Amino acid sequence: MITVKSFEFNYFSVNTYVLHDETGEAVLIDCGCFREEEERGLNNYIIANKLTLKHLLCTHLHLDHVFGNEFANRAYGLKPQAHKADADALPSVREQARLFGLQDRIQSIPVEKYIVGNETIKFGNSELTALLVPGHSPGSLAFYNKKNGFAVTGDVIFNGSIGRTDLWGGNQEVLIAAIKDKILSLPDETILYPGHGPETNVISESMNNPFL
Ligand SMILES: [Zn+2]
Ligand SMILES: [Zn+2]
Repeated sequence: MITVKSFEFNYFSVNTYVLHDETGEAVLIDCGCFREEEERGLNNYIIANKLTLKHLLCTHLHLDHVFGNEFANRAYGLKPQAHKADADALPSVREQARLFGLQDRIQSIPVEKYIVGNETIKFGNSELTALLVPGHSPGSLAFYNKKNGFAVTGDVIFNGSIGRTDLWGGNQEVLIAAIKDKILSLPDETILYPGHGPETNVISESMNNPFL
């Protein structure tokens, strides 16, 4: 059984997720902590639950989703894993931060391992399947757990909305097609944990999302 904990971090109100199962092994997805109290909040949760972090996964490499990678590296020795298409197409985090007018305390931690579509990521007794869902960024990934019926979707789809497509390598037609192909094809009751805002599920987005 996987426990999903979400935190809302940084100027962009990004959702950072910690997933763990009964073994205490865990994955950190989109580590967005920026201020010291955010780092402390994340660390307190990890200590209180005696978690061993196995992977630092990035749904994509927009700055709001990677602000905390330097902290995750410093505190837990983790290095980010992401799709190569994002690493190739997007400016460095430091450069993205400059473009958004944020220059302080941004350190880029290079991606250590590239994740490909349909790859299985294991921790404890559990596994996630990486789904490539391009369009918001060229290498956007969703992390799907079939057994527990959920997916962490990054900025691909939100409760009642979809990701913006005006940033590096974005494409709205590609995004909508990929959402229909990879996300709406999951079982109806699958819970979707997005990169911003509240959770949703496949059936309610299939029926109510005005962009799809
Ligand atoms: Zn994004
Ligand atoms: Zn975002």
